[in-house]
Amino acid sequence: MLTTEQNRDQLHGTLERQDDASRDDEKWKAVQSRDDRFDGAFVFAVRSTGIYCRPSCPARLAGKDQVAFFPGPIEAEQSGFRPCHRCQPREAGPSPKAKLVDQVCRYIEANVQGKLDLAILSRHVGLSPYHFQRTFKKVLGISPREYVKARRLGRMKRFLRNGETVNDSLYNAGFSSRSRVYEDVPGGFGVNPGEFRRGGEGLRIRYSIINSPLGRLLVAWTQGGVCGVCIGDSDAFVESSLAEDYPSATLHRSDDEMKEWTGAFAKYFEGNRLDVNLPLDVKATAFQSRVWKIIQSIPFGKTTTYSQIAKELGAPEASRAVARACATNPVALAIPCHRVIGKDGSLRGYRWGIERKHTLLKLEQAANPETVQKTTRQVPGN
Ligand SMILES: [Zn+2]
Repeated sequence: MLTTEQNRDQLHGTLERQDDASRDDEKWKAVQSRDDRFDGAFVFAVRSTGIYCRPSCPARLAGKDQVAFFPGPIEAEQSGFRPCHRCQPREAGPSPKAKLVDQVCRYIEANVQGKLDLAILSRHVGLSPYHFQRTFKKVLGISPREYVKARRLGRMKRFLRNGETVNDSLYNAGFSSRSRVYEDVPGGFGVNPGEFRRGGEGLRIRYSIINSPLGRLLVAWTQGGVCGVCIGDSDAFVESSLAEDYPSATLHRSDDEMKEWTGAFAKYFEGNRLDVNLPLDVKATAFQSRVWKIIQSIPFGKTTTYSQIAKELGAPEASRAVARACATNPVALAIPCHRVIGKDGSLRGYRWGIERKHTLLKLEQAANPETVQKTTRQVPGN
């Protein structure tokens, strides 16, 4: 006699071995009979509602043509589906594939400074390199190599942010040499798009640093417009922040140029609005650009909340993603993410420090909101 657990494993194993078409038939049968033995083996999503469920969900069933199957919650959410409130498919746990990938990701995290090639990683989970690579890519949308690199870049950014030198940050993050960082920075990531922003390859960026009531303020621009605004205690800090956002760009300090732009920011601190026509040149995912557009429409001196923006986007559950889009805003003040606060009135976070957010909001509230300042819409030479 099989235990429930063995029975379940056997059923799930049968599914794995079938070809796609008969597997989908099998899954559809399980869904129609709301067979809870298949919970955890896969989830199904309904295209018309954008919701995904576990096989046993008691909610009314859609037609088969509306249904798509996914190995687990992670995969369904990557395709933009939201979990059903009724059957809570996340609780059924990730798919076996997602679990395996999760295991590898933990291993990578723990051994990020060591050697992490395909052979080592696949051996860790007992799969052939080929099978492992395929599975990994299917779950996360990127190859193990790209993932390792992205994790190292993320760590490097943290070290830089904590004030470590570029070389120390590189080695502590597990890169064997400086050139390894700049080669093939992968674009088009399926995970954490803000973190894996394009590195600015081939981009020539000029910047200037001025004094402000918040500390040193760096304004950077490309031929297309302002691409970075960083605030910090020292020139070294704001310069390394810019380098984090554009690791592959050529950066050149040029204090004498574009005084009207840095001047616009200086005037802002005297209580004037920033010209909304200030040309910006920032890379964004579709989601980031929708969030940033809404943020740009928040009037000077006013605030809104993360959840309000999520609602405006038509995605009321996305307030954490909205907060992430704020945290990855490369142009402080020009995209005034300091005007976004928590529902309870707390300030939550700010990339340049919560005290600065507080100061900015106070400054705006004290200023005369009727003064609109003009800046030229000149595009700089490069
Ligand atoms: Zn459901």
